[in-house]
Amino acid sequence: MPELPEVETIARQLRGLIVGRTIAHFRSDWRRLTEPEPADLFAARLAGRAIRGVRRRGKLVVMDLDDGEALIVSLRMTGQLLFREKEVEAHPYRRAHIAFTDGTALEFADTRKFGRMAIVDATALDGATHAPRRVGEPLHRFLGVEPLSRAFTVRWLRDFLARRGRSAIKPLLLDQTGIAGVGNIYDIEALWRARIHPLRTAGSLADDEVGRLHEALRWVLRKGIRYGGATRRDYRDARGKEGRMQREFNVYDRAGDPCPRCGAEIVRTVVGGRGTFHCPRCQRLPRGAARPARSRA
Ligand SMILES: [Zn+2]
Repeated sequence: MPELPEVETIARQLRGLIVGRTIAHFRSDWRRLTEPEPADLFAARLAGRAIRGVRRRGKLVVMDLDDGEALIVSLRMTGQLLFREKEVEAHPYRRAHIAFTDGTALEFADTRKFGRMAIVDATALDGATHAPRRVGEPLHRFLGVEPLSRAFTVRWLRDFLARRGRSAIKPLLLDQTGIAGVGNIYDIEALWRARIHPLRTAGSLADDEVGRLHEALRWVLRKGIRYGGATRRDYRDARGKEGRMQREFNVYDRAGDPCPRCGAEIVRTVVGGRGTFHCPRCQRLPRGAARPARSRA
């Protein structure tokens, strides 16, 4: 599932490919893609709009339009945004097609069909709405701090962890309304780098551990961007290429391998319903804390 580095890679590429182009038409025959808006209304709102910029917010690709609105794309599990220089045979899992007036196009392919698009007021993406998000309210208005921005400081992280002190650290880092853009892979890699067990409670981290976690999150996310993101199955960049970060994982998907730091065997557990990897020697749980069941998968 694309996380911050994968989406950042796509947004940076698209910036060089589609900024300045004007949308001729939008087509989609997968009704849930633009839900609750019907695809034909969606298409009418996009026709004639120029793309002014492309950026990332959390795990969303944001295409800023010339009228103050933005087309946002949530790739979810398997979504791909593929730039087409000229007419090519449609991707077998094409869910939408954005044709530009100059003959180029942007194709949205998605095997699992969890991806979504929306046209929103661009300013709604800027800062999190502070009211707690209720079920059904759109996530884009509640996205938390960007971990690579200046606003994400050690002090911010310390305050955030204190406020959510009873949460286990691993699932807390996945909460998009807290820190936006971190998903399972970079969460696991950051906790390994910071030598913090995934089940530690947020409030139990000492100051030096908070500092290490802050550094580790930024380090793994930046490295992910530098390597063009991680491809496990479906992720492709806007040119249809795989990322290279998957070769750099230290613990993610490495169950049974030796820890690169200490040589102990990496174990897989399930935390909050998600497959989790850690080194039992480098990432210890304090005595008395509940231990995760080891899983075989
Ligand atoms: Zn280790």
